[in-house]
Amino acid sequence: MLMDGRNIAKEIKTEIKIEIDKIKETYRISPSVALVLVGADPASEVYINSQIKSCKDLGIDAKEYFFGNDITEEFLLSLINELNENPEIDGIMINLPLPKHINVTKILNKIKLTKDVDGFKAENLGLLFQNDKDFIAPSTPAGIMEMLKRYKIELEGKDVVVVGRSNIVGKPVAALVLNAHGTVTICNSFTKNLADKTKNADILISAVGKPLFITKDMVKEEAVVIDVGINRVGDKIVGDVDFENVKEKVSYITPVPGGVGALTVAMLFSNILKAFKTNRNILEGK
Ligand code: NAP
Repeated sequence: MLMDGRNIAKEIKTEIKIEIDKIKETYRISPSVALVLVGADPASEVYINSQIKSCKDLGIDAKEYFFGNDITEEFLLSLINELNENPEIDGIMINLPLPKHINVTKILNKIKLTKDVDGFKAENLGLLFQNDKDFIAPSTPAGIMEMLKRYKIELEGKDVVVVGRSNIVGKPVAALVLNAHGTVTICNSFTKNLADKTKNADILISAVGKPLFITKDMVKEEAVVIDVGINRVGDKIVGDVDFENVKEKVSYITPVPGGVGALTVAMLFSNILKAFKTNRNILEGK
């Protein structure tokens, strides 16, 4: 069965809009997010335009902080300080990549914990590993978990294999699965006999970034396959999985595009809503 990320993303956005409208009516305030873009990376510009549109649709005030490639690290750090202190900013999104002369980790770690809507700062990742309820999960891993939840795929006792160990996908999704009582194997480019590992997976999550990387012989019959990869092949976007051949063998599979990617954006807005409620002391159910 195909797991339809676009449909779920639509459902999530509708739920977020209902909640924001309710808060607006009760408290007369709306969420606000700072979108920071440095340089003119075409992929980032497409992503930021879709963020601006979604903010508008959901009633979130998007404040644009767009700069040329030549700004300094000190300038960006002082901007983040200002945004951290500004009570009218609920979330800070730094669009990546940043230019090479700026230390990304230093910038991300400067964001105030409750405004870190991307969930990339060390403290948020630490809270995730402690399974603390207050963490903000990075949106792609959160999207994967939401996809599994909405398709009622249980994780407890399942063998879950994650291929890829990046800080933005592989590691945090592995931690989320572990917190949900799955048994996790995390693979990387040094892993021996990868197919032996992947063939054991009840749920296989691929976040590698190579087209046709996961082939039919690497997956177990009736497995659930989550394809995080976004790869450009000619004028087409494809995932990591040999979709056409693998889909015949498995019980569930995410398409690319229209799978995890669609959910990533929706989960980002869910994080903004969570940050908004935390920053403005909005109590649940009021
Ligand atoms: P990344 O930082 O490049 O990480 C790729 C991972 O794959 C690394 O851990 C690497 O291992 C591992 N790998 C590479 N070759 C391997 C091999 N032969 N066997 C096993 N593991 C191997 O990438 P990322 O940022 O996590 O992104 C991964 C993919 O997901 C990309 O296509 C990206 O565009 C996509 N993505 C999609 C979304 C979405 O919203 N759907 C969000 C983020 C990323 P080493 O650590 O040993 O090098």
